[in-house]
Amino acid sequence: MNLILLGPPGAGKGTQAQRLEQKHGLIQLSTGDMLRAAVAAGSEIGREAKAIMDRGELVSDAVVVSIISDRIGQDDARSGFILDGFPRTVAQAEALDHMLNERGLKLNAVIEMKVVDDILVERITGRYSCGKCGFGYHDRFLLPKVAGVCDKCGGTEFKRRADDKAETVSSRLAAYHAQTAPLLPYYQARGVLRAVDGMADIDEVSQQLEGILGQLA
Ligand code: ADP
Ligand code: ADP
Ligand code: ZN
Repeated sequence: MNLILLGPPGAGKGTQAQRLEQKHGLIQLSTGDMLRAAVAAGSEIGREAKAIMDRGELVSDAVVVSIISDRIGQDDARSGFILDGFPRTVAQAEALDHMLNERGLKLNAVIEMKVVDDILVERITGRYSCGKCGFGYHDRFLLPKVAGVCDKCGGTEFKRRADDKAETVSSRLAAYHAQTAPLLPYYQARGVLRAVDGMADIDEVSQQLEGILGQLA
């Protein structure tokens, strides 16, 4: 099964993708994670991407399309994937259609996570993750069961993203509305668009997603 989770920054895409990965053996393909790995590695792509990400703007279509095309071509993607943070422009969606066609793959569903902008600042500024395994948490909405210890791996070091500051949220939301929201009619026209209530609590959103996966199976 190949899915896209679509929604603004902080909608819960990564959180739900991690859960679907564990439960269904699908792999999470996050262009944000891939770009942050490139930044950490200090590669040429990473150096160029960093300044753009810090401003809350979108990295060029050519760069992200090439990263995702390499990744989708790897063996472990054959048993199904969840795209998280890609595509983000119509040009990226067209490039995705092309790469899936070439490989004889299809999209089973594009799931919109519906949330209003007002809540996203708190979601984003409270976000952090395990430094060892990357599992995601929130200062208020999702705390580790034992304070300071990762539920998944027992790690005790956590990190926050450089771009998760209130100042960059407005430009990231503007980019979402101007460049990414046009994907909703794009996928609606192709008959694959579904939606969940991203304002509900994390477990409730997971249940709605499970319901959709059940219908698709
Ligand atoms: P995205 O990948 O869409 O940018 P995340 O999954 O990283 O968003 O979620 C942003 C933050 O909000 C994280 O700290 C996460 O723990 C928290 N979060 C995710 N979903 C919900 C929810 N339904 N209710 C409350 N907080 C949530
Ligand atoms: P969020 O879901 O919180 O917006 P991501 O981790 O998906 O965060 O993305 C972080 C940043 O990485 C974006 O603000 C953007 O600069 C860059 N980025 C990630 N995915 C893409 C993409 N598909 N196209 C362009 N830029 C991207
Ligand atoms: Zn961990």
